[in-house]
Amino acid sequence: MSTLKAVRGTRDLLPAETGLWNRIEATARSVFSRYGFGEIRTPVFEDTALFARGVGEETDIVSKEMYTWEDRARAQSEKTQSLTLRPENTAGVVRAYIEHKLGETGQLQKLYYIGPQFRRERPQRGRYRQFSQIGAEVIGPASSGSESPLRDAEVLEMLASLLDELGISGWVLKLNSVGSASDRPKYIETLRAALMPVVGQMCVDCQRRAETNPLRVLDCKVPEDQPIIDALPKIADSLDADSRAHFAAVCAALDAAGVPYERDHRLVRGLDYYTRTTFEFTHGGLGAQNALLGGGRYDGLSELIGGPKAPGIGFAMGEDRLVLTLQAQEAAKAVLLDTYIAPVGEVQNPAALSLARSLRRSGLSVELGDGAFRVKKSFEAADKVARTIVLFGEDEANSGILTVKDFSTGIQSKIARADLAAALLSSRNK
Ligand code: AMP
Repeated sequence: MSTLKAVRGTRDLLPAETGLWNRIEATARSVFSRYGFGEIRTPVFEDTALFARGVGEETDIVSKEMYTWEDRARAQSEKTQSLTLRPENTAGVVRAYIEHKLGETGQLQKLYYIGPQFRRERPQRGRYRQFSQIGAEVIGPASSGSESPLRDAEVLEMLASLLDELGISGWVLKLNSVGSASDRPKYIETLRAALMPVVGQMCVDCQRRAETNPLRVLDCKVPEDQPIIDALPKIADSLDADSRAHFAAVCAALDAAGVPYERDHRLVRGLDYYTRTTFEFTHGGLGAQNALLGGGRYDGLSELIGGPKAPGIGFAMGEDRLVLTLQAQEAAKAVLLDTYIAPVGEVQNPAALSLARSLRRSGLSVELGDGAFRVKKSFEAADKVARTIVLFGEDEANSGILTVKDFSTGIQSKIARADLAAALLSSRNK
């Protein structure tokens, strides 16, 4: 009999890993509660129509990635119904907001969730068919202040604090505005017109997207298409005065709070329901799937699924990707020594030992190579075990000026022997 395995794109998490998952969830819960959020748990499957209407028929998620089935009637009183494993949680939260008439309280609702989502995507590192999201939504009637740019800025500031508290370093916040519900169709038309003369030179995916969903052209990663895309009109130029003012107010509040961000004109995101602010936090350590989290404002979503006007803003973080990032950071911290000294020529070995001794006495962790190694071999050995390499050849011995390369930045610099320990210590803390 063939052995049964976890289905492609799904994984078991064993005790060695679940500790980190629990720590991430506990930190998220603690940060959310400091900002006045309460937990919501919605069902793992919903009526397919919720996602078709709420996420958008044209999106990749709905058109290609959903796990959908016909749920057969068990009794005459029941109807056969099309059901779908949730591919995201915002639509479910907004459905619950409408169903439980949370808007009638007149209060801003601040809700967070933690749980599995399902998409039939091509599995790779950081992309699974069952994955976990930690997300939150701020939603309420306009009278509760739910449209205010301060809400957007507060959510972004909370995310920056959460990532910092989790110990994730090196995140980048990318920010854009996709305008109001009426700005978007205007921009799509402008984009369609601008694509017409150039689309023939673009990849086949872009040729299709130009027809079906021109905004998706902006997500293209094919290198040859990039100059063409960079020259396309920007959505910023299609925004009306209100949307511009809203975005400026978000930026001003972030500036005042000291949260760094980058404007990314191409960030329009895959889901149809976004209006005005859109954002992503990315991390270089994740490789191709570099988005730690994404989100934005969705002022018309409630009405789209049959509810009252209820502007809102939310985000979803990929918990699997938080785990990958933290594991990589831990691994980098655990194994890398401060430096590797590479004597060039055996004659330098004794002096190199003396240098290693003085650096170690300064509290640095040091691996000492051997002057019999060729320089290329020293570099390969050093790259595996240390953050930096110090070359110690005849020139260096005579001048007292050492050549140091930092592997994480690729920068090579000349440092006087007397300053070396201090320089290595300060680069450790970057
Ligand atoms: P999205 O709703 O597609 O913007 O997803 C929000 C976040 O969920 C992304 O930034 C990822 O961190 C995470 N995510 C989305 N799809 C997957 C997936 N298939 N596997 C793992 N994480 C995912």
